[in-house]
Amino acid sequence: DTLLKIQNIKASVEDKEILKGINLTINKGEVHVIMGPNGAGKSTLANVLMNHPNYKVGQGEIFFKGEDITHLQTDERARRGMFLSFQYPEEVPGITVENFLRTAKASISGKPVRLLAFKKALQEKMELLDMKPEYAQRYLNEGFSGGEKKKNEILQMTILEPDLAILDETDSGLDVDAVKVVSQGIQMYSKEDNAVLIITHHKKLLEHIKPDFVHILLDGKISMTSDSSLVDKIEAQGYQWVREGRGE
Ligand code: ADP
Ligand code: MG
Ligand code: MG
Repeated sequence: DTLLKIQNIKASVEDKEILKGINLTINKGEVHVIMGPNGAGKSTLANVLMNHPNYKVGQGEIFFKGEDITHLQTDERARRGMFLSFQYPEEVPGITVENFLRTAKASISGKPVRLLAFKKALQEKMELLDMKPEYAQRYLNEGFSGGEKKKNEILQMTILEPDLAILDETDSGLDVDAVKVVSQGIQMYSKEDNAVLIITHHKKLLEHIKPDFVHILLDGKISMTSDSSLVDKIEAQGYQWVREGRGE
């Protein structure tokens, strides 16, 4: 059951071509990992998938659940079941985490979300992520530590329940305990009827997750795709051997 199909996507930022022909298919039930050196285009790909306005698609198509979404707006993609960990504003004064998530849930599902049931579900999910109950009443991202922001992204994912979650470096800047909680959160989320695309530099995040596919993004192209053993190989040897394999 194909969820996402990316066909020969070329994309640019400020007239500079960053993605040079990306092909990727993600089926329901799968966990994909993208690794690659800094500047390879990983975040560009994540942003293109959510149609961030700074990124222009020059060629290629993106299909989601069989429909061409190449030209759909971000909110429409979210309503169809896509989620990007960085799609929310940095700081929203005056709006609590609880209100924000409840509003987002209602907007994405198109249905009203009952307050008490929502409060209960939120508290349960926060507990699983080792977050304090008072966190729900704090203002969104205001004074959040790096770890709290990252956990908040995972919390958003578990509340919004997207069919495809794209997590761009959700582990960066986290202490080891927080990485473990985030890793477990992703593992709990991953099911037969959804898919997760994880962009990461770190093996640690994958400790509790067994990816089905690991892709190496180099200079705007997927240079290699393999199973989870590739994570160890990159951790030990870096990316140079992948470049050399391409004749560089
Ligand atoms: P990665 O996430 O793999 O580290 P990015 O996709 O963030 O790489 O960046 C790929 C390239 O695109 C880099 O050369 C970066 O400088 C450039 N780039 C990305 N976003 C922007 C932007 N908003 N403005 C200018 N250049 C950008
Ligand atoms: Mg990046
Ligand atoms: Mg666009």
